[in-house]
Amino acid sequence: MAILHVDVNSAFLSWTAIKLLSEGYPTDIREIPSVISAGEDDSRHAIVLAKSTPAKKYGIKTADTIYSARKACPNLVSFFPDFELYKYHSDRMYELLCEYSPLVERYSIDECFIDYTGCEALYGEPLSVAKEINRRIREELGFTVNVGLGPNKLLAKMASDFEKPDRVHTLWPEEIEKKMWPLDIADLFMCGRKSVRKLRNININTIGDLAKADPEMISGILKTQGRMLWEYANGIDDSPVLLHYDAKDKSIGHSMTTRTDIESPEEAAPILHWLCEKAVYRMRKAGYIATVITVQFKNSDFEYYSHQARLRGGVQTVEEVYAYSKSLFKEGWRGEPLRLIGVSLSGLVTEAAEQLSFLGGDLGGDSQLIEPEESVKNKKKSEALENALAQIRNKFGRDSVGHVTTRDYSKKPR
Ligand SMILES: [Mg+2]
Repeated sequence: MAILHVDVNSAFLSWTAIKLLSEGYPTDIREIPSVISAGEDDSRHAIVLAKSTPAKKYGIKTADTIYSARKACPNLVSFFPDFELYKYHSDRMYELLCEYSPLVERYSIDECFIDYTGCEALYGEPLSVAKEINRRIREELGFTVNVGLGPNKLLAKMASDFEKPDRVHTLWPEEIEKKMWPLDIADLFMCGRKSVRKLRNININTIGDLAKADPEMISGILKTQGRMLWEYANGIDDSPVLLHYDAKDKSIGHSMTTRTDIESPEEAAPILHWLCEKAVYRMRKAGYIATVITVQFKNSDFEYYSHQARLRGGVQTVEEVYAYSKSLFKEGWRGEPLRLIGVSLSGLVTEAAEQLSFLGGDLGGDSQLIEPEESVKNKKKSEALENALAQIRNKFGRDSVGHVTTRDYSKKPR
């Protein structure tokens, strides 16, 4: 087995830099303190989505407010995200990667997995192909990527996260002890803050500590996630590279942990919008429509809760999902300072199935982003949601809700 994971270095910033240069912008923003920001220009609520390496040196991190980033670096330059542009570059990368294998999974807008197993006879040794992909993307597409190579998705993904940028790393089973076990437990894929906290409590601080622990004991502490994380720590992962989502039991979601607490719906709005864009992009790419939207909250006491709505009609545009998410946020939020917000789309159906749901069938679906022990406050469509629906109808026409409207993602950026 040979799996490659390709991850674009500072994707949003790099892609914006390329566009600016092509338009005659005098500097490569990758080489100066710069950020991509979400939210109203220079409002206190705008946040950092991506930062350049020079900006990183000022201590600026993803999800910082632009306000605090400017305090740290007064001559910081900030740019708005351009989702169509990002989609364009993401597509070019995907097309290039498809030359090497019939099995390429678009894991996120800037990450792909390639199952290279059995392709050696055609294109050569996996490591030389990894290097070729790294070089070709730099030379032909104008941005840099890290490529991770290993026997499964987990190890390939861990490998691509080693030293950046513009590097190729391997993580074969015999390299796990030396390359992966010394890493902090928080660096393990899928090991979230809550799990990290529980593991540190029992003095498990590195991936190696977890690998050598008793899996039964870990399962007792971390429930369903425990076994998986223990296997990950030992480099075990047999999940296949996927062409499509299995809609029945999947959810597509994103969450963002903020550096400073979120204390108002206004502060949450740009983050929600961004999360909706990311989630909707992935859902549309996979060809689905969501019938359940969940907004997730985590407060400064690490308490996690969520609020969701099941929609009779299903949604598939950013605007629709965002309008619902804003209402769900307002209804579900308990008013305390928040550290994390998430938006997840589930109850994923294809267009034909979605039509059937109008006849009264419940197609179900579980939100996997929600950890099993957490309670889900499932409320029916409420007044606020009806208001959101009305707003959408006003803005996008009466047929946009309950009907399927298709956004054209194939357009090239100007
Ligand atoms: Mg990346």
